[in-house]
Amino acid sequence: AHEGILRRQKARESAARTYARALPIVPVRARGLTIEGADGRRYLDCLSGAGTLALGHNHPVVLEAIRKVLDSGAPLHVLDLATPVKDAFITELFHTLPSGLADHARVQFCGPAGTDAVEAALKLVRAATGRTGLLAFTGAYHGMTAGALAASGDATDVRVARLPYPQDYRCPFGVGGPRGAELAARWTESVLDDPKSGVPHPAGMILEPVQGEGGVIPAPDVWMRRMREITAARSIPLIADEVQTGVGRTGAFWAVEHSGITPDVMVLSKAIGGSLPLAVVVYRDDLDVWEPGAHAGTFRGNQLAMAAGTATLSYVRENRLAERAATLGSRMLAQLRQLARELPCIGDVRGRGLMLGLELVDTETAPAPAPARIVGAGPPDGEPSEADAPPATARAPHPADPELAAAVQRECLRRGLIVELGGRDTSVVRLLPPLTITDEQATAVLDRLADAVETAAR
Ligand code: PMP
Repeated sequence: AHEGILRRQKARESAARTYARALPIVPVRARGLTIEGADGRRYLDCLSGAGTLALGHNHPVVLEAIRKVLDSGAPLHVLDLATPVKDAFITELFHTLPSGLADHARVQFCGPAGTDAVEAALKLVRAATGRTGLLAFTGAYHGMTAGALAASGDATDVRVARLPYPQDYRCPFGVGGPRGAELAARWTESVLDDPKSGVPHPAGMILEPVQGEGGVIPAPDVWMRRMREITAARSIPLIADEVQTGVGRTGAFWAVEHSGITPDVMVLSKAIGGSLPLAVVVYRDDLDVWEPGAHAGTFRGNQLAMAAGTATLSYVRENRLAERAATLGSRMLAQLRQLARELPCIGDVRGRGLMLGLELVDTETAPAPAPARIVGAGPPDGEPSEADAPPATARAPHPADPELAAAVQRECLRRGLIVELGGRDTSVVRLLPPLTITDEQATAVLDRLADAVETAAR
């Protein structure tokens, strides 16, 4: 069955499919962290439906919530009508919202995917401000529909100013740390204050608190606060895309909580549906300027997803799984950093909570000199100085090595471990285990990964 299914998929499914190419697995059963293939092999799944499965596969509370709806005779499809299932979901969702937003929030169901919610958020801020342009960041990923694509940097006709996203390892200013974050913030200010930038007064700014697909790059808290300041001072709605970072993943229930900022709009999907498709936009109620019917869509009321989502949100909250993600995540990060000291082909290890990444680099090729500053719209009014130079102990980045990353992914698979690749050069091995992963399982994941990197680097 295994071979036949894979052969037919290859012959009949679009070449645009992604994971299937690298992962010749035919899952037939799954529970928690474990997937079992049609060939009888078992895998530890650190892809988790691209970060969707906060509680792992088929968690009993999620299954029970779905069964309860099925057995109750409740309608499964009701468009936008109010139902007890939906009411319970909204109540639980509002319970979890950052305090600054919870008291003045509206929720809009979009559907069914994250990209639909991004699209709705972009439309919402345009409607609310009466303006167009958008501020987005290098390395961002917001989805595959036109507006979301534009915000992610793929060419479309939406006017977007692409701003530097701060990071230590490949800092666009060659300095990293708080100074790199400050230079990135000043760059943003200089674009907004330049009447010729084309977006001096945009409709909104969209950012990921941790870039996921972009290569697991956590935004410094100080930079998040600067973005909040900069947008608030200019009445620009700030949209936090928490599609991947939400529901405890980064060690806080919502990743914006790390910096204490309150965004005007939050885009949520993936884990909020407890493994079924669900996407919402949550926003400050004074932005709720929609005319009735201004934003429609047939699949906005998936009752099963809402029930699975309610069960997931309350389980994560009641069992403090965000805190668990924070403690286990920092331990795993420390162990991965130790591994990087032993294996120089791991150029960088980063992440927050249980959103972790290893960047594979080509150590045969000399590190490229760090850029003094990035090219693009007007320079920030502060060039890096000598004092900003990275500490002597910091390793200058070697070039990214996507082939090695692919080899690591294959070696992981041979050892029964599923990992995802990401990053601007597809050179980052990403770990997104369920928040329910046990200490023993985490050790097994890291052992297999270490062994895989060692073999692939040979
Ligand atoms: N935003 C972020 C931050 C994401 O990670 C993703 C998906 N990886 C999306 C939006 C798009 O979600 P979807 O694939 O469900 O459209």
